Order: sequence, then structure tokens, then C-alpha cells
Amino acid sequence: MIFDIISKTIRVAKALTSPKPAKEDVSKISLHHPSRYRGQHTIDYETCIGCDSCNKICPTHAITMKRLPLKKQNIVPEVNLATCIFCGLCEDVCPTKPDKSIVLSGGRYDMLSGGWHSDQDDFWVNVDIPQSYIDDRLEQEEATRIKKELAKKKKEAQLKAKKAEEEK
Ligand code: SF4
Ligand code: SF4
Repeated sequence: MIFDIISKTIRVAKALTSPKPAKEDVSKISLHHPSRYRGQHTIDYETCIGCDSCNKICPTHAITMKRLPLKKQNIVPEVNLATCIFCGLCEDVCPTKPDKSIVLSGGRYDMLSGGWHSDQDDFWVNVDIPQSYIDDRLEQEEATRIKKELAKKKKEAQLKAKKAEEEK
């Protein structure tokens, strides 16, 4: 008991006599976050196939699908962390392999604290896709379309030739 009091007194005295300036911004770290904490989503727009499953399963409608000017991958998810409950269902249901295209990867420890929510607008996980990526994908889609059209024409010509041969 006496020892406890002395040790506490020494600790307090030390703390009072040698104040140290804060070395890091504690709003960016969690002092005691659970090891399986599900934090902010990471979305890989390159592997996402735009299946909409994450959006459909989300129980709080926290996901909005952003429209892309592409034929196949024409939507990609964005998440509103203000309404997300971090259940992880969107990650569970994502079908892409070997890696999921939407992953609750942590990184927003401020969301555990109940405080530090100074910037409400910063609660969205947006997907910023460079125009060069869109242009490349559009080019690929056009090349695939032309290839398919040529293959179709070739097949039609072969059938026509075969039919003419049979009619001789
Ligand atoms: S973690 Fe849950 S609530 Fe949050 S976006 Fe995914 S499915 Fe919706
Ligand atoms: S479930 Fe996965 S692949 Fe499907 S839209 Fe969501 S992130 Fe993309």
C-alpha cells in the first residue's frame, strides 16, 4: 500500500517535472483497436466486375454504385461510412478471386473513437478512376467488338459458301 502510494507519487512527480510534447497526432491512431477491427473499405476498380452484389447485400444502403461509361464493368461501388455499420457483408459476398475487390482494410481508427469526426464530408470512400484507364478499357471493348463482328461475318460467308456448294 505504502509502496503503491510512493510509486504513484514518483510517477506523477516525474510527469509534472518533465512534460514531453506530443510526438504524433493521436487522432490518426487507435490506442486499443481490436485485432479484427474492420475499418474503411479499399475498393479495387480494376478487378471489380460491377456485379452489384455488395450493393444488394448492404443492410444499411451505405453503398452507391458509381456509373462508368463501359459496357462490361459499368458500375463500381462507393461507400458512405456515415451509414456503414462495418458488418463486412459486402466483402464476404464479393465474387472476385483471388482477391476481393472490396475489402474492409482498416486505416480509419478515428471511427472507433466516437470523436474526431470533424470532417463529415470525408466519410465517403470514393473511387477515383483516371481517364486513361477508362480510355484504355473503351479501346479494348471496341477492339473486342470489331473482332467479334469480323468473326461473325467470316462465319456467315463460310455458311453461304457451303450452302452454294451443296446447291450445285
Ligand atoms: S460493411 Fe456492411 S454496412 Fe458497410 S458497406 Fe459493407 S455491407 Fe454495407
Ligand atoms: S461485389 Fe465485388 S465485384 Fe461485385 S460490384 Fe461489389 S466490389 Fe465489384
